[in-house]
Amino acid sequence: MKLKEFDLDRFEKRVVASPGLCIYCCQVLPSEGLTDEHVIPYALGHNTLVFQKSSCKPCAAIIQRYEQEVLKKQLGTFRLQVDAPSRTKRKERPINVELPFVEVDDRSAFVRDLGSRSFPLNDAPLILNLWQLPEPRLFRGDADTGDDHGRPWSFIDMPVASGIIDQVRAETGAHNVAMKIGEVKRSHFLRFLAKTAHAFAVAELGIGGFTPWLTDIVLERDDDMTKYVGGTFPTTDRPMPPEVTTLMSVGGVDDLVAVRIQFYHVLGSPAYVVTVGRENENTAARIAAMIDGYD
Ligand SMILES: [Zn+2]
Repeated sequence: MKLKEFDLDRFEKRVVASPGLCIYCCQVLPSEGLTDEHVIPYALGHNTLVFQKSSCKPCAAIIQRYEQEVLKKQLGTFRLQVDAPSRTKRKERPINVELPFVEVDDRSAFVRDLGSRSFPLNDAPLILNLWQLPEPRLFRGDADTGDDHGRPWSFIDMPVASGIIDQVRAETGAHNVAMKIGEVKRSHFLRFLAKTAHAFAVAELGIGGFTPWLTDIVLERDDDMTKYVGGTFPTTDRPMPPEVTTLMSVGGVDDLVAVRIQFYHVLGSPAYVVTVGRENENTAARIAAMIDGYD
C-alpha cells in the first residue's frame, strides 16, 4: 500500500476539485447546495486536504454531531497541548487543563474522589486517548466472533504524570492515587474513522473509483462499524519523522479498497485500517494515477 503522509505541522494544503455531488448521499446539487469537506478535520490538520463542495448540508450536519464530539471531548485537551489548529481565537482558548484524581486501593478499585486540579497547559502531562481494535471482521472472514469491541488506548507522559500524582498523594494523604483520563466514546470515534477514510478514498480515487460501502455508517443508518473498521500493524515503508502527525494511505487489499490511518505515530499510537469498499473496473487505473501524482 502506497503511503500518503500528511505533515500537519507544515500546513501543506491540497485541494481536490468538487465532484458536483455529495460524496455521502450521492445527491447531485448545484455548488451552493454543497459545502467544502475537510477530509482531515480542520482541528487536526488546518486545511491539509480540502475536498471542495463535496458534502450536502444535511449530511454535513449529521457528521458534525459525532465528529465534533471526537475533536472536542476525546482530543480537545491533547489538541490544545500540541497546539493543534482551532477556530477558537487563541486568546479565548483555555490555558489550563483540569485533571481529576481518585484514590484507589491495591487492586485499583475506587476508594474516594480526590477532586480535580488545574494545571497550566505546559505543566500537564500529554495525554492522547484513542481506541485499539482487532482487524476488521471482513479481514477475518466476517466471523461474528464477538471479540471486536477492542479497548481504550492511551498515551500518558508518565514522568510528568508521576510527579503530579506524587504531589496529590502528599497533599491528600491518599495511599494510591490515580489520574482519571478522558473517555473515548467508541461508537463516535469508529464512525469518525469510517467517515475520514471514505472521504479520503473518494478524494484520492474519485467518484466511481470504487464501490463504496460506508455511506450508511457515515450517515448513522448502520452501526456495524467493526465489520469495516479495525486495527492493523503500524507498518510503514520507511521511518517517519516525528513531526508527521497523520498518516493516511489508500490501496487495494485483495479485491477490497482499504484506507490506513494513524494519528501521532510518534506516540506509538494504534494504526487503523478501514475497508471503504470493493474494487471496480476503475480502481486499478485510479490507484496507478494516484501513485503517479505523488511523484
Ligand atoms: Zn449528502
